[in-house]
Amino acid sequence: MRFEAGRTVLYRITVRGRVANVRPCRVISDDDRGLLLWLARDSAVAVEVAEDGRGIRQMPFTEWAGMRYRLEPGNWQGPGVLKFLPHGVDHSVWLFFDDAGRFASWYVNLEERALRWDDGDLAGVDVIDQDLDIVVAPDRTWRWKDEDEFAERLALPEHYWVPDEAAVWSEGRRVIKLIEAGDFPFDGTWTDFHPDPTWPVPTTLPPGWNRPTIPRP
Ligand code: MG
Repeated sequence: MRFEAGRTVLYRITVRGRVANVRPCRVISDDDRGLLLWLARDSAVAVEVAEDGRGIRQMPFTEWAGMRYRLEPGNWQGPGVLKFLPHGVDHSVWLFFDDAGRFASWYVNLEERALRWDDGDLAGVDVIDQDLDIVVAPDRTWRWKDEDEFAERLALPEHYWVPDEAAVWSEGRRVIKLIEAGDFPFDGTWTDFHPDPTWPVPTTLPPGWNRPTIPRP
C-alpha cells in the first residue's frame, strides 16, 4: 500500500487498542525509502487525556493506569514537523524546524512499526509509541530522552504496552549507529525542507479519524 503525494493521512498513536493521539499529515512522498509526512502548524489534533482532563505526564503512571480516558481535541502548537517512517522498522524520524522554518533537530521516536490502513476517503498509519526517544542536534550529537518515563511504565507490565524493553533499546542503538555515521536520513536529507505556503492546513479532523485501530499480530 502506497499513499499518493498530497493526500491527507492520519498518524495515530495507539495504546492497548485505543486511539490515543491523532495527527493529520500531508503525504510528501512515499517511496522505497519510506513514508514522509508533513504535520503543519495549527493542524487539528486529538490527544488522550484522563476523564479529569489531565494528561499521562501529569500524574504517576500507577494513577494513569486506573483512569478512564477520552480524546481531547486541540491544535498542533509550534512549527510544523516532518515525520519520516522508514518501511518495516520500529521507529520514525522527525525533523523539527524553528519559527523561521530553519532545521532545528532530529527526533527519533521509537515506536512499534506503522500499520497502514486505507478506507478510501481516509487513510492513516497506526503506531504504538514506545516512549523512549533520541534527540539529535544538527551536528549529530545525540542524547536519550524519556528514559525515566520508560522505566516507570516498564515497572507496571500489566498496564504497559511495551512488552520487550531490550528490543526498544536495541532499535535505538541501531539508529544511533546511523546518526554517528551521518547516514540517511541523518545525512542532511530534507533539512532544507520548506512547505508550500498554499497547502491547506487541516483545521478539523476528517470523519473516521477515530476508526478502530489495526489489530497487531
Ligand atoms: Mg516517544
